[in-house]
Amino acid sequence: MNKLIFLKVYALVFFFSVAINAQQTVLVHSIQEFNTAVSEAKPGTNIVLANGVWQDAELLFEGEGSVSKPIKLSAEEKGKVTLEGQSYLQIAGSYLHVEGLVFKNGYTPTNEVISFRKNNKTLAYHSRLSECVIDNYSNPERHEQDSWVALYGKNNRVDHNHFEGKGNRGVTLIVRLNSKESIENNHTIEGNYFGPRQNLGSNGGETLRVGTSHFSMEKSKTIVQGNYFDRCDGEHEIISNKCDQTTFKNNVFFESIGTLTMRHGDETWVEGNVFLGNRKRNTGGIRVINGQQTVKNNYGYGLTGYRFRGALVVMNGVPNSPLNRYFQVEDAVIENNVFVNSDHVQLCAGSDDERSATPLNSTFKNNTFYLDKESELVTVYDDISGIEFDNNRTNFPINPNMTEGFKVKKMSLVKDRHGLLMPKIGRKIISPDLADVLPSKENTGTSFYSKEDKRIAFESGKTHTVSAGVNTLFDAIKNSKPGDILELNESLPYELTKLPLIKHPLTIRATSGTNPMILWEKKAAFDIVNGGELRLKGLSFDGENAPDGSGNAVIRTSKYSMNKNYSLRIEDCAFNNLDVNHSFDVISIYKNTFADEIHIENSTFNNITGHVMALDRETDDVGIYNAEFVTLINNKFTNIQGTVLSLHRGGKDESTFGPFLYLDHCTLENVGFGSRNKYQTALSLYGVQDIVIKNSVFTNTKNIKMHLVVGEPIVNVSNIQMDQAGQIEVSGDQKYTLGKVFTKETNPSDLIGTDNAPLGVRINK
Ligand code: CA
Repeated sequence: MNKLIFLKVYALVFFFSVAINAQQTVLVHSIQEFNTAVSEAKPGTNIVLANGVWQDAELLFEGEGSVSKPIKLSAEEKGKVTLEGQSYLQIAGSYLHVEGLVFKNGYTPTNEVISFRKNNKTLAYHSRLSECVIDNYSNPERHEQDSWVALYGKNNRVDHNHFEGKGNRGVTLIVRLNSKESIENNHTIEGNYFGPRQNLGSNGGETLRVGTSHFSMEKSKTIVQGNYFDRCDGEHEIISNKCDQTTFKNNVFFESIGTLTMRHGDETWVEGNVFLGNRKRNTGGIRVINGQQTVKNNYGYGLTGYRFRGALVVMNGVPNSPLNRYFQVEDAVIENNVFVNSDHVQLCAGSDDERSATPLNSTFKNNTFYLDKESELVTVYDDISGIEFDNNRTNFPINPNMTEGFKVKKMSLVKDRHGLLMPKIGRKIISPDLADVLPSKENTGTSFYSKEDKRIAFESGKTHTVSAGVNTLFDAIKNSKPGDILELNESLPYELTKLPLIKHPLTIRATSGTNPMILWEKKAAFDIVNGGELRLKGLSFDGENAPDGSGNAVIRTSKYSMNKNYSLRIEDCAFNNLDVNHSFDVISIYKNTFADEIHIENSTFNNITGHVMALDRETDDVGIYNAEFVTLINNKFTNIQGTVLSLHRGGKDESTFGPFLYLDHCTLENVGFGSRNKYQTALSLYGVQDIVIKNSVFTNTKNIKMHLVVGEPIVNVSNIQMDQAGQIEVSGDQKYTLGKVFTKETNPSDLIGTDNAPLGVRINK
């Protein structure tokens, strides 16, 4: 082709395509214009939302495109079109493509932010959602349920989207199989960035679910591949698969708590996935339930989870299981998986009177486990004769009862081409067959939306010095910015006649060598409201100015639902004379709030008419609770009429990890005897799943009460001294209690985790 002809042809094609595009692209500025454009759209039409904020936009994108000419809904400029308030989107018809929309600053008034259907009858087919963002678009009511994306219909694709910060109950992305039009759907979910999701503290925090137990006998044929799950910590199940024939391939799970769970349905294919726990607590891998499951070429590093969130878990089933319980594992193929420094492989997990059906006709071959030091890697809960073990390798003996099918080999660790640490035996690197390019934070999601962490750390902001006086502290709190430090530099009273709201992470601390005193006149000194987090250090609190009425507190949470978790840290503080009237607590919390941690260290508490803290406001007994990690180290509690701690998780749900209690080097004296203490104990632990109490002295206290229920609670009580007044009282499922609790009658050799550290607080304050 000579140059001139080439240019002419080029120009012709160029002008032709401009003309077509001009005809087909419709820029809309309002819902009315959008609706008109949708009703007039033909295959090839591109409906473009104008830049700006679309408030309360209810978008129904319905139409019939074609394979070569889909109808498109896009943004004038990606990242500059945001749907806010009570906006949501429905996609219905076929060959529709939605691209580049951002949902934030609001929540859906319906059950789904983006729904691949208009109603039960009109679903979406051959349609695509790409480069869209849903960021913190959470219902303010923590336990009000919704989903962010719901797939219905068939042959749809969800790719390169960014989903981050779901704070309320409900699955982030759900594939529904609730009618024949949505079964064998061949959906593809790929290249998405699933950003951080906080611990919900209840069931209902799954990041991805395919199917429901009701339709679990149906085939999904959904493929989930190349996605990046970044700290998806909602609950036990990062992914809950609940139907037949789903494929999970080449996904990366970065420091995510929980497991990829084959909850219901057979013939799931789990291959080439990477689980990077990096020793974060409760990170897990893969949980196998049901028939004909394939688990091969997966890799795990630093997975610490135990029981249902182990690195690799094969569960027991229920004989003749109802749809919503556990089907027996049958014909499972578990091969060529590699786990490095991952703590727990659980076989026949969940074995109990109900879950008594052990795995059948399954193979466990060519798997490799590397450990830095010898530990009990494999726990066997029941009969494993239905699993054939062959040619598995470890570098330490794994379990004295399991020698068949495991070889102990000398191993070293080397980095593979992805930078992952792999075991090396002799000259051979043992590496599962992973994809050439693994999904990462950089290559998943959108290119235009930031993946920077939004949670702001304590003490990451500016330091402001605050002088003593009336409401100087109130004003400083009001003017503070997220992450700031307020430093109180005078050993004088800081009086609060107004109640400050803690709206963001904030540290209030004494300048070294000073002892500031906080006095307050409202019912509390501080209220932590949604988004707030508080760290107190070196301060004294005295309740003398508090109003003469019952139910005061030092620190309260919001009375209203908080859809953001908070952290409360108290160090080197003193709390005295909370006794102007009855039921004066140190920390008082409300329903629908959740603390990731409450940490109290080196502090003293004296003369208090209420509880130090009662974390007991979820009384529906459906497995919801108020705090994950409660840590009490080196504290002195004297003359407390209520409990030092009441921690409550009611019901029999098994979807959560906590609550956890760690109590070390504390002394309790004269605790729990108030007539208004409804628990009539010093410590009330109801449904707590992990309890450590050690190196502590209980003098003239009411009992420690533990009610142990589901979740195989771990109880480790050691090196404590209790006088005649106190006992440890255990109730609940007795099988969890035998031999697990030390009381003063117990022979010291029965101590669990014997610890010869000195008793009581280390520094006499
Ligand atoms: Ca769940």
